[in-house]
Amino acid sequence: MLGFEWEVWILNGQDQVSGSEIPPRIDRQDALQRGRRVWRYRNARGAEMRRAKIVCTLGPASDGVEEIGDLIEAGMAVARLNASHGTTDHRAEVIDRVREVSDRVGAPVATMLDVSGPEIRTAPLSEPVHLETGGQRRLVEGETVDDEVLGLSMSLGNVEPGDTVLLDDGRIELTVADIDGDEVTATVNSGGKLGGRKGVNVPGVDLGLEFITDQDRRELELAAEKNVAYVASSFVGSAEDVYAVNNILEARGADIPVVAKIERAEAVENLEEILGAADGVMVARGDLGVECPLEQVPLIQKRIIREARREGVPVITATEMLDSMIHARRPTRAETSDVANAVLDGTDAVMLSAETAVGDHPVRVVETMARIINDVEADEEYAESREQRVPPAGDTRTDAISRSARYLARDVDASAIVTVTESGYTANKVAKYRPSVPVVAVTPDENVRRRLALLWGVTPRTLSYVDKGATELIERAATNAIDSGVVNSGDTVVVLAGMMTDLEGANTTNTLKVHLAAEILTSGRGISGGRASGPVFAAPDGDLTGCPDDAVVVLSESFDGEFDGDLSRIGAIVAADRGLTSYPAMIARELGVPMVGGVEPEVPDGTPVTVDGDRGVVYRSEEDDERA
Ligand code: PEP
Repeated sequence: MLGFEWEVWILNGQDQVSGSEIPPRIDRQDALQRGRRVWRYRNARGAEMRRAKIVCTLGPASDGVEEIGDLIEAGMAVARLNASHGTTDHRAEVIDRVREVSDRVGAPVATMLDVSGPEIRTAPLSEPVHLETGGQRRLVEGETVDDEVLGLSMSLGNVEPGDTVLLDDGRIELTVADIDGDEVTATVNSGGKLGGRKGVNVPGVDLGLEFITDQDRRELELAAEKNVAYVASSFVGSAEDVYAVNNILEARGADIPVVAKIERAEAVENLEEILGAADGVMVARGDLGVECPLEQVPLIQKRIIREARREGVPVITATEMLDSMIHARRPTRAETSDVANAVLDGTDAVMLSAETAVGDHPVRVVETMARIINDVEADEEYAESREQRVPPAGDTRTDAISRSARYLARDVDASAIVTVTESGYTANKVAKYRPSVPVVAVTPDENVRRRLALLWGVTPRTLSYVDKGATELIERAATNAIDSGVVNSGDTVVVLAGMMTDLEGANTTNTLKVHLAAEILTSGRGISGGRASGPVFAAPDGDLTGCPDDAVVVLSESFDGEFDGDLSRIGAIVAADRGLTSYPAMIARELGVPMVGGVEPEVPDGTPVTVDGDRGVVYRSEEDDERA
């Protein structure tokens, strides 16, 4: 299980504090008032957790058990398998491997099977070949590659002399010179080294390809059989295309969310309807940059992120993000800015392709990406841009409640939003409004838990809650959030839950609660304000002999005398007497310690507890909880 550590920076005051605990001298409210507070959360191994997630494409450099484990530790949330390379059988093995490792380390990782769609690729090659500028090649269907012929996975239909043919994301450019039946002769305008199975694009020409190929059907079969978390669909042009993929999956009994890759001019034009049909979108900049003028890609990217965010559709920014790191040990400044800008714009996830699939040091790339994300997310500008770009509430009740939860969490200084989510729907809605606190999504369904790994800011957890009433469900969800390490016992959380009733129907979130996430031992009258933690010390007759420092002194109903001993050891008082003018009440106020009255907790001496005098509750503290 992952645990978390908190780090607090108060940047415009004197303090810059880091570590696992807020030092007792720093009051959270005070910290908020004094300046900017930045929460960084870390897993048990010290790695920071992120809001924007990292998608890694697995390949020969990274698809072994050990490598997958290392990538998860470095920050991989989604493992992408690209059907344009390798075999279906091998992909089946890798999907199992990812599950096995992710279950073993206890970190949910979503698998995403990226289906190639109607694409043409160059023939496979064991060694790259060089295409001379000024030379000519015959482009024909087949696997031959020599000085005259360049084999393609399919012949180029519908092209005309003068059309531009781009290979390998546009790195090599040819112009169609002549056409003879299925054979196209093209002149190399701009040559270079060409590897095997590189993409072929003819911008502006409808090559008349079937949207779903036989190969795609085999991959969708695999996706259904393995119940992968996501299917990514390439070269989508319209909502129709997304539904076509959905239909095939449904016909195989699978309910798998489809991520539409936006990489054709037609898809950019039809973005709105695609966002209405897809469960996620990917800014697939590789093909986008050859299908559309390259200079338009940055603005198209911004538009896709903006519109996807407004609609609450998860968006992945992909391709060449840290491309130079396929070989280099450090990214370029431009690549670093590229990742940072996508995160600043609010992308749900950033993706690595060849960097992790075939690169020299996949783990290092993921660590680098994680550091860039962490730094952006810790910055004030990021917080500001999130505040300024909260989407308007959507039409559904869950939208309204999720949006309210976002502001409520901020206003009550909650540590997290905890959402109980059966299908992932509520968690998705909460993430849509980009709250400033972490979102812990608890679900009874292990598949849903994996899917949630892609969502911005969401820590997914499993919790079985069959036949539980609302109160118990909220209680257990909050306890689960404590177990996740995202919140500490005694923290305020905002809980959102969809209680399934016949009246409300499915996918209806109808409960929003400000909740104290703690194991409450007793609650009574708050007599003296503040919050303090310490070991319980029962003093039936007021004798403080043997009382430890900062003790929570418990006085029973029979107590009617005065304290005897060192009063400075008293950290808090809990008394059966609920009177505001009682002797213990006066002492509590004089010492400035919290007190709860009217209760008699039955816990052994030495039990670590927290007394919250404002809320009138006494709850069990974590052993090392000094955050009160
Ligand atoms: C892209 O074109 O940017 C992309 C992600 O798709 P693929 O890796 O399949 O080319």
